[in-house]
Amino acid sequence: MKIDFTKNTDGLTPTIIQDNETKNVLMMGYMNQEALDKTLETNKVTFFSRSKNRLWTKGEESGNFLNLISIKKDCDDDTLLIQVNPVGPTCHTGSDTCWQETNNQEYGFISKLEKTIKDRKENANPDSSYIASLFAKGFNKIAQKVGEEAVEVVIEAKDSNDDLFLSESADLLFHYLILLQAKGFQLNDVISVLKQRKK
Ligand code: AMP
Ligand code: ZN
Ligand code: ZN
Ligand code: ZN
Repeated sequence: MKIDFTKNTDGLTPTIIQDNETKNVLMMGYMNQEALDKTLETNKVTFFSRSKNRLWTKGEESGNFLNLISIKKDCDDDTLLIQVNPVGPTCHTGSDTCWQETNNQEYGFISKLEKTIKDRKENANPDSSYIASLFAKGFNKIAQKVGEEAVEVVIEAKDSNDDLFLSESADLLFHYLILLQAKGFQLNDVISVLKQRKK
């Protein structure tokens, strides 16, 4: 791979680290030729640390290495995008990424829906908002709704009507998100549990 290290005046190339699985941006560091060579040699991302003024293999103290998946250069060969499988949290603060807030948008549409649910819960009038009316009726009613929708999904799964199955699935997911919110959780909390099981 040919990178133009002279383009950046200090010979250091900005290097963006992306989680190969979640596609989250994890961190940014700098590489010189030596750092790139060492990364390719060891398959663990190694930067040139400006503060340490030496090669720095991310994870060298913490064990939170960035295992190399792929390296891509940008359109004019002066910036790198590296996809990795991170071992543990990447940020030294203990967060998965150095931009935890932004990356919480990971679930795209679902995150927006969760925000809407939270907004209706906190601000909406039960007379004009279905979500607010569920929260007004209380936790038992919401849990019961999830049970009903789950049964409907099971029933439609046995039939051959795909539209009804998908429609009931949407009902279930929607009410499940409301139940999670009522319990003070988000889908992310459930996904964290699933990720831990994978190990
Ligand atoms: P590590 O490479 O994970 O063993 O961490 C060694 C040191 O590098 C830490 O004490 C921090 O000073 C620094 N460091 C670790 N992770 C990051 C990061 N994501 N961004 C900037 N500095 C970091
Ligand atoms: Zn460029
Ligand atoms: Zn950080
Ligand atoms: Zn339904």
